[in-house]
Amino acid sequence: MRIARFSHQDAIRYGIVDETDLVVLAGDPLFAGFETTGVRVPLADAALLAPVIPRSKVVAIARNYRDHAAELGNEVSSEPMLFLKPNTSVVGPGDTIVLPPQSQRVDHEGELAAVIGTIAKNVPAERALDYVFGYTIANDVTARDLQKTDGQWSRAKGFDTFCPLGPAIETEFDLAGGAVITTRVDGQVRQQGPIADMVHSVAEIIAYASAAFTLLPGDVILTGTPAGVGPIAAGQTVEVEITGLGVLRNPARSA
Ligand code: MG
Repeated sequence: MRIARFSHQDAIRYGIVDETDLVVLAGDPLFAGFETTGVRVPLADAALLAPVIPRSKVVAIARNYRDHAAELGNEVSSEPMLFLKPNTSVVGPGDTIVLPPQSQRVDHEGELAAVIGTIAKNVPAERALDYVFGYTIANDVTARDLQKTDGQWSRAKGFDTFCPLGPAIETEFDLAGGAVITTRVDGQVRQQGPIADMVHSVAEIIAYASAAFTLLPGDVILTGTPAGVGPIAAGQTVEVEITGLGVLRNPARSA
C-alpha cells in the first residue's frame, strides 16, 4: 500500500494511492488505521505533502555507505553514528529547499527513510522491522561548510526545509529487493547506489537508536547516503529516486 498525505480543497487528508486516485482515509493511519471514507480524489487534483510530520524527531545515521564515507575522507564507524534533525526541517514533495545565507555550500544526500509505526524502546534487531510502518524517500540536506566549522551538526543538518520527505509511504517495500537510490540535479545523475551497500542495516539502526531513546509512531529514520554528494545551487531541482518508492523532487532557491 502507498499512503500519501495531501491537501485538497483546503483540507489536509491521508489517502491510499490507487492508480490515478487517492482513496481518502478517515484519519492519520499511524493512529487511526486504514478506515476509508468512500471518497476518492484524483491524484491530479491533490497537492502531495510530506507523508508524515515526525511528532518528536528525525533520527539519522552518518557514514553508512563505505564509498560515501571515503569520499569525505572518513572511516566507517564500527557502531552506527547517530544524529538528529528537528521536525521543523521537514518539507514535502515539490516544496522548495531554502539555501540559507549562512552557508556557501549546501549538499544533497538522497536516502532511504523508515517511518516508525509503533513505540520502540530497546528493540532487538531481529524484531526491529516489526516497528516500521513503511518506507519513503528523504533528502538529508546538509550545509557542508557549517558541518565542518560548527564542530557538531545540529545547525548544518537542521535548517528549515533541510529534510524533504515523500512522495508517499510504501508499507510493503522490500529491503532485500535490490532497490537503488539515484539522486539527480537538473536531470544529471549525482548519486547512485544500491541500499544493499549499507554498512549498518535498517534493523540494526533501529535497534541501536531505540537503545538510546524511545522511538515514537511517526518518527523517521534516515539510513545514510551513497557516494556522490554535491552542491545544490539556487534555481536547480534535486530528484531522489528509490526503486519502488517513486521520486522525491524539490527545487532550491536562495533565502
Ligand atoms: Mg545523510
